[in-house]
This record gives sequence, structure tokens and C-alpha cells, in this order.
Amino acid sequence: MSHPGYAFFNKNIIPIEMAKVDIRTNALQYGTGIFEGIRSYWDNDTGKNYIFRMRDHFERFIRNAKIIMIEVKYSVDQLCDITLDLMKKEKYSEDAYIRPFAYNSGLGIGPKLIGNDQDLFIYSIPLGLYLETDRAISVCISSWDRISDNSIPPRAKISGSYVNAALQKTEAILNGYDEALVLSADGRHVCEGSAMNVFMVRNNKLVTPAVTDDILEGITRNTVIELAKKLNIMEVVERPIDRTELYTADELFFCGTGAQISPIGSVDKRTIGDGGMGPVTKKLQDNYFKLVTNKIEEYSAWCTEV
Ligand code: PMP
Repeated sequence: MSHPGYAFFNKNIIPIEMAKVDIRTNALQYGTGIFEGIRSYWDNDTGKNYIFRMRDHFERFIRNAKIIMIEVKYSVDQLCDITLDLMKKEKYSEDAYIRPFAYNSGLGIGPKLIGNDQDLFIYSIPLGLYLETDRAISVCISSWDRISDNSIPPRAKISGSYVNAALQKTEAILNGYDEALVLSADGRHVCEGSAMNVFMVRNNKLVTPAVTDDILEGITRNTVIELAKKLNIMEVVERPIDRTELYTADELFFCGTGAQISPIGSVDKRTIGDGGMGPVTKKLQDNYFKLVTNKIEEYSAWCTEV
């Protein structure tokens, strides 16, 4: 069967080609939607599909929807049940990506967050690699600043805010890089990639920007911190990172639901380490791939079998 076959739309699971919105939709005009990105992993060894940290994604979704005054009219349990039903119908035998989206569905003109109908849909798409995971990628510092908590809060996955990410990613690609690293508008600290968090190995510590540094509080970021601590891989420090600390880091990697764990080989043409995947990144990545296919028993609660 071709994917996706279905969407949850207007309170029902329907064929995806019937899930259409009106051209006047407020969220289409003004970007007033909030979304999630969840991965499901096909495990070739067992022939099973697992959705990774689904509850955590929906908890973040409901919590952050408050920021743009969207009321998600479903509980975390209900959203998990709907997603499972949808994924059972899709019958994937490859990795996939699930996109829940809550939005202002009203048809009125005007960018405001009140007085609008609101709705929610969920669909999925097949998704292999979003960034390379075997090869270290090349990265530039974007000339575009990251949005900030007091402009468009990066903490929420607000659809309109991804114009910022699109400018960064597009500039990077047009200039011959794989990805961008983005600095904050004030203070010039490192925030994250266009759609992924960043970690640095420096002086035997695993360093990542704090949640107050204009980042999305990534679930993969949290997974990496958890793995580093549990497996005694390295001490983790959450603190501001300078641009030139990146140039002089021992290792750098991106992480995210789409990105997974992607090693960074250079920043602005400065080689990081030996330019390949560093040992700490490798250890974390190996364990991450075990984790998401339910091969580490301690974390099996993070994997929901479809
Ligand atoms: N930062 C941004 C801006 C993102 O869009 C994403 C992808 N959701 C991430 C970080 C990584 O977050 P997560 O690990 O929760 O997917």
C-alpha cells in the first residue's frame, strides 16, 4: 500500500486525500498552529514497529499549545490511542514520522489567537534519514538569528516559527553546507540547528545550551542527557555555548526526532576533531538506535508497539 493512506481529521480517521482545509484557514494565513514530530521505527530483526516516546511528545504538545492559546481537546491517552489506531491502519514496514497538528481552523481575517475555531489533525509519512547519521556533516553558522522567547517562542513548535528554520536551512544548502547552527539574537550564543538540538564534547564534558537559551526543549536532547548519565558516558552540562567554542570542540553532534544523532564534521570550514564521528557521539548513537527499537529493556516504556 502507498503511504500515507489515512489521516485523523475532523474527529475521524479518513483516507488522506479527503483531509483538506479551507483556503481561508487562519493557521494557513498566519502560522497559528502548533505541531509535533514523532518517529516510529521498523525493526527488521523482529518485524515490529515501535513509536518512540509518544506520551512525552503529546505531553509537550498539550503543554506548549497553551503558549499560543490553543486548547487541545484530547487527553494524552486519547491522542496516543488515535495515533496507534492510525498507525495500525498504515501497516508500515519502514521508519515513519507522525505529525500531530493543532491549529486555528477559523476562517476570519486577522492574526489573533482568540475567537477562532480550533481543530487537530494527525497524519504520518515514511521517513528514513533526515540528516546523515554515518557521515559527519558540514555546518555553517547561519546569518539568520534564532527567534527568541519574546518574539516567537522557540519552546513551542509553532508552525509559523518554522519560517525562521526554513531561512536557515535554505541558506546553508545554497552555500554548500548540510545544515546550519543558529545564534541567539541577543548575546550571540549558540541555540541549535534549524530543527535539531546541538551537543558539544569539550574538556571531557558533554555540553548543550540550557532550556532558557531560545531552544526547543527537545525530547531527543532529553534522551541523550539520560543516556549519557545512565551509561556513565560523560558528565552533562547545560550552559550557554560561544560560537568559537564550537570551532575548538572535540566533538559536535545534532540530535532530534528527525535528525536522530548526526555527527558534525566541520563548522564554518573548521574541522571538528578528525572530521569524522567522535567516540562519544558513536557510543550515544549506538545506544540511541538500540533504544528506539526497544532493545534496552530498562527503557521499554518509551517504545509503544504498533
Ligand atoms: N529544535 C527544533 C527547532 C526542532 O524543530 C526540533 C525537532 N522537533 C528539535 C530541536 C529536536 O526536538 P525533538 O528531539 O523533540 O524532536
